[in-house]
Amino acid sequence: MKKIGVLTSGGDAPGMNAAIRAVVRKAIFHGLEVYGIKYGYQGLIDGNIEKMDLGSVGDIIQRGGTKLYSARCEEFKTEEGQLKGIEQLKKHGIEGLIAIGGDGTFMGAKKITEKGYPCIGVPGTIDNDIPGTDFTIGFDTALNTIIDAIDKIRDTATSHERTYVIEVMGRDAGDLALWAGLADGAETILIPESEDNMDEVVERLKRGHDRGKKHSIIIVAEGVGSGVDFAKQIEEAAQLETRVTVLGHTQRGGSPSASDRVLASRLGAHAVDLLLDGKAGRMVGIQANKLVDHDIIDILNTEHQVDLDMYRLSKELSI
Ligand code: ATP
Repeated sequence: MKKIGVLTSGGDAPGMNAAIRAVVRKAIFHGLEVYGIKYGYQGLIDGNIEKMDLGSVGDIIQRGGTKLYSARCEEFKTEEGQLKGIEQLKKHGIEGLIAIGGDGTFMGAKKITEKGYPCIGVPGTIDNDIPGTDFTIGFDTALNTIIDAIDKIRDTATSHERTYVIEVMGRDAGDLALWAGLADGAETILIPESEDNMDEVVERLKRGHDRGKKHSIIIVAEGVGSGVDFAKQIEEAAQLETRVTVLGHTQRGGSPSASDRVLASRLGAHAVDLLLDGKAGRMVGIQANKLVDHDIIDILNTEHQVDLDMYRLSKELSI
């Protein structure tokens, strides 16, 4: 293999740039040529492809977003779109591809691999919703952004003795809500993986209020539903003044944490090693701090599991 391509696709995540840098530098270290494909699979179809050198990834390890931009591309879900992409790979002499993104991105990678072009997936999403890896690139940074926001909200919550409902991202996964709630000592954490009884939530709030608690923080994962609706229900049922904050896209941006930069560097470099070893259709990950790889098909057929022991602990600590 002499020439490889790299793209980022789906939602951006802090640390994607560090992963791109690792792919480019590791590949050049091994004597490969590297081509950056802009705007994900859309850029692949359009031939938005340019050669990357060592300098092209300088000064990006600390930046959020993605230097290669990202896009969602419906056309690539069709056979016709995929063949257009393959044509571009042929035209540029690209023999293997590294795709950084979430499960949708891996579906695309699987399709390219099936058409004879080896692809390796790198998990980049703040949601931490990919099986086969303990952490995805961007999760730690988003978590720290949430913690920072909650710490600030807590000051106001205490000053005004209010209940605050904070809605956090995570799509269908409760990881961001759970980790943020545990790290910030939230009274209640609502995640899609567990059905919570509203009466129990209200009861816990009232108990806290009666023993003189100055504020309450409730974290709602977006997969559970709207934080605004939930706050209304709480206010009516508990008769406590309630405010709501939807953190939204602030959670996706910002300079990646040290942990995400290191993870992205390790995973990006490992993806290059797999291509050089002749592997295809694999996703790299980290489990128990060891680099691993799994068949993308297995990843797509497995459901992500949130750590329910941690969830139980969060309840025990917020009695
Ligand atoms: P995130 O979790 O951040 O949303 P993602 O990678 O899951 O990231 P998607 O929008 O689901 O984001 O997928 C990214 C892109 O991957 C799509 O826009 C599309 O181009 C490609 N893709 C998704 N599903 C398929 C599929 N079944 N076949 C081919 N390509 C696909």
